[in-house]
Amino acid sequence: MTRTFTESADVVVVGGGPAGSATATHLARAGARVIMLEKSAYPREKVCGDGLTPRAMAELTRLGIAAADQGWKANRGLRIHVGRAQYTMDWPTLTDVPDVGYTVRRSVFDQVLADHASQAGVQVITGATVTAPVLRRGRVTAVTTKDGRSFEAPVVVAADGNSSRLSVAMGRHRIASRPLGVAVRAYFTSPMSDEVWLDSWLELWDGPVNRSHLLPGYGWSFPLGDGTCNVGLGLPDASRFRDVDFRALMTRWLATMPPQWGFSVDHQVGAVASAALPMGFNRKPVAGSGLLLVGDAAGAVNPFNGEGISYAMESGRFAAEQIIQALARGIHTRAADRVLAGYATRLEQAWGGYFWLGNLFGRVIAHPAIMRLAAHHGLPIPVVRQLTHRLLAHLNDQPGHDGYDRVINALCALAPKA
Ligand SMILES: Cc1cc2nc3c(=O)[nH]c(=O)nc-3n(C[C@H](O)[C@H](O)[C@H](O)COP(=O)(O)OP(=O)(O)OC[C@H]3O[C@@H](n4cnc5c(N)ncnc54)[C@H](O)[C@@H]3O)c2cc1C
Repeated sequence: MTRTFTESADVVVVGGGPAGSATATHLARAGARVIMLEKSAYPREKVCGDGLTPRAMAELTRLGIAAADQGWKANRGLRIHVGRAQYTMDWPTLTDVPDVGYTVRRSVFDQVLADHASQAGVQVITGATVTAPVLRRGRVTAVTTKDGRSFEAPVVVAADGNSSRLSVAMGRHRIASRPLGVAVRAYFTSPMSDEVWLDSWLELWDGPVNRSHLLPGYGWSFPLGDGTCNVGLGLPDASRFRDVDFRALMTRWLATMPPQWGFSVDHQVGAVASAALPMGFNRKPVAGSGLLLVGDAAGAVNPFNGEGISYAMESGRFAAEQIIQALARGIHTRAADRVLAGYATRLEQAWGGYFWLGNLFGRVIAHPAIMRLAAHHGLPIPVVRQLTHRLLAHLNDQPGHDGYDRVINALCALAPKA
């Protein structure tokens, strides 16, 4: 018989990606006893584009991590390709976020965040695969791991990514009507590795340009500054691509790239890998029964552009702030439950309108011909280009300082909450 070993804390965080590490760090900094359980061991790979936007930089600063000291690759904005045209767009100068982004492999990034959590006092336990929640009177009070251990706490955070088995075990399934994208990436040695722009292609051809199918979604090349680029493509509706051979699709799309960029099989490093993008709050409720969902577990990927790292860290910060207030009010009291439930309101207020617009955008770009028409006719106009850039990258000050901020803020305020 396996001997059960139980440890306890104020909060147990399940999953040690950006959402889990950010949640745990903020909690520990505020004085909570935190255990973070991660099934793999660092460094571990995560299929991603490795791109950190200015929103992510602002969160890193809040965590006390200076990207500039890490040796990561800085970038100044986006270079958008539409047909033969290309447009460069600097990250805007804003009050709320800096005007710089970075790229770094997730194997490195996630370890830095987990080490940071550990330094903040979090008990980081790797090789701990959570298998089930333990319930008492309908509330989660502990989780058990594959190797027979159990970890108890009055509040548990699900930061276990897109499939979030913990949420599913608590009856919180994916909302099928919300967008679930899929993205594919591979690394290539390339002379573009030292570029200062994140390249993005708004036309995704399934073969020769203008002589094959136009796919919904976009392609990217993110320079890593180490001789390689992270190159991939994102498709907004995974259900339409269930039977697709992504490796073959990538090869066909990459054949449309200029050969001097080096995105050919002989320059590929490692395998082509794909993973899901849970977008627009595709799992609810995010709070209840002692369990809070953060990051991909909450479906908190931006439906406009597939960015998820900053939302993972931000949602972790929101969750941590609510939990700290709940602990102070006396856990299991009505006042504490109320403040935990307030996490859902916080997410809704922060991104509800924006994600609703993004979910709508996803439905529109599911028709690539519309996207193509809009890109070809809209992007040459500087005001439209700038507004599109700011809207899709979610880069607007609140309250607004310029016309772009004000338009985006007004759209988000008028939209229903996702
Ligand atoms: C191809 C691709 C490209 C992308 N590119 C970008 C990009 O360039 N920029 C960007 O911002 N976003 C990007 N995203 C989205 C981004 O990767 C995610 O939104 C982000 O990783 C979410 O962080 P998270 O911490 O919520 O989840 P994850 O990063 O998935 O972390 C979850 C963690 O939980 C652990 N875990 C899972 N189950 C258990 C369990 N049972 N017990 C214990 N631990 C468990 C996992 O091992 C993992 O470490 C991309 C996604 C894909 C698929």
